[in-house]
Amino acid sequence: MAETKILIVEDEGIEVLDLQLRLTSMGYTVQDIVATGEEAVGKAEDTHLDLILMDIMLQGEIDGVEAAARIHSQFDIPVIFLTAYADDKTLERAKVTEPYGYLVKPFQERDLQIAIEMALYKHRMERDLKKSERLLATTLRSIGDGVITTDNNGLINFMNPVAEGLVGWKLNEAVNKKLPDIFNLIDRKSRQAVKNTVSKVLLHGKIVNLANHTMLIAKGGAEIPIDVRAAPIRDDRDNITGVVLVLRDVTTRERAEKEEKRLVAELARSNRELEQFAYIASHDLQSPLRLISGFLNLLSRRYMGKLDAKADEFISSAMRNAERMDQLINDILAFSKEGNNDKPFELLKSQDLLELALYNLQAEIKDSRANLTFDNLPLVTGDRNQLVQVFQNLVGNAIKYHKPHEPPWIQITVEEKPDAWEFRVADNGIGINPQFAERIFQIFQRLHTMREYPGTGIGLATCKKIVERHGGRIWVESMPEQGSTFCFTLPSRQM
Ligand code: ADP
Repeated sequence: MAETKILIVEDEGIEVLDLQLRLTSMGYTVQDIVATGEEAVGKAEDTHLDLILMDIMLQGEIDGVEAAARIHSQFDIPVIFLTAYADDKTLERAKVTEPYGYLVKPFQERDLQIAIEMALYKHRMERDLKKSERLLATTLRSIGDGVITTDNNGLINFMNPVAEGLVGWKLNEAVNKKLPDIFNLIDRKSRQAVKNTVSKVLLHGKIVNLANHTMLIAKGGAEIPIDVRAAPIRDDRDNITGVVLVLRDVTTRERAEKEEKRLVAELARSNRELEQFAYIASHDLQSPLRLISGFLNLLSRRYMGKLDAKADEFISSAMRNAERMDQLINDILAFSKEGNNDKPFELLKSQDLLELALYNLQAEIKDSRANLTFDNLPLVTGDRNQLVQVFQNLVGNAIKYHKPHEPPWIQITVEEKPDAWEFRVADNGIGINPQFAERIFQIFQRLHTMREYPGTGIGLATCKKIVERHGGRIWVESMPEQGSTFCFTLPSRQM
């Protein structure tokens, strides 16, 4: 245990000696001994003391009570008074200094020890209490929510600065008033007054939450949207001793929500505009490109083999690139058309859609010697052309991205999920690194050069757009070299 340092303030030589002996034998450290009140105040300042034993009757300018009063006002050291006799007036004066004990001489050693231990204990408790009070006060001052407490009659006894700011009243003006005397709560829609929340909590002892629909009408009539939470305060015996209200100003939150909605709408609008633009631009590029291709064909037919080798190479290169440009324009056109297409959905046999897609891909299937199997596919609701496009893009990719020396093997299956059909197009191709699993669904994102695999990077973005327009989801499950499975869902309920 740490030593307890005690200051003795006593001017009777014999008593000093006696006290010193007794304290030392009880295990305390007598840090210092002084004979006057002035000296005691001085020592309190420059020594680390745990306790002061103070005689009341002292020689000099000030007596023990006055010395204790000065020490009490400046330092946090517990004082025990020692006295042989004191009149009522002195006792009254002593009380004001909040002493930790009072021993009447002569006293037993045991009484002295008890008085000292009680004083130290009480002092420690008070220090802890003050600490937690300070913590609470700091917390209440610094949190962003308004806090108001009332007693068990619903009379306000505390408000933090945020609450003062919200309701427009200072704590000292509001104290002992009822809540409805200083502000009103109304329902935002009906504008009806909300029943007195505090009375409700006091009556039922339950937490009351008012969120998303409450308006506070502050002093001067300002209206502030707020969330309110009111909870009972209970004592050790579970009796309700008051109510604590937490008020949160939701103006900023609501403004942010509105702003977010506005941004989402704005984004959708600008996306639509961009698609419209892409559509018009690619559409208008088609006819000059057709002319260029036409002239290139003429050039090729008339002059191929008649000029020099270089000229032949230039003509073929120009023709190849015109073809690629044509593909690109067609893909952009398809992509931007899908978003603007609002043809009503119809009930469709997905089997037919797949077969149509395979028909469109017959050349590729034949050239690659692809092996295809598929389940019996269900009825779905949607846009015929768009869904054919999805099957065609996915099967087309499964064929295109096959391994160099293995013909593609493609399996199309379907599984019924709680409220959707999950279609799966699995291949035995080159596979995809999972780190690109999301990226490939973005427009123009490709993992290969044109030389390795031709393409524009628009196919999967178009599929995603179509599937999402149908209320479904699309993703890929794959590993490099292990084949890929592209999955998409279509709602099975009627849309
Ligand atoms: P494109 O095929 O025109 O490049 P897509 O949008 O259809 O564009 O595909 C994007 C990329 O995803 C492709 O470039 C390819 O790298 C990858 N990918 C698509 N399907 C497969 C598949 N079945 N196997 C492996 N990779 C694929």
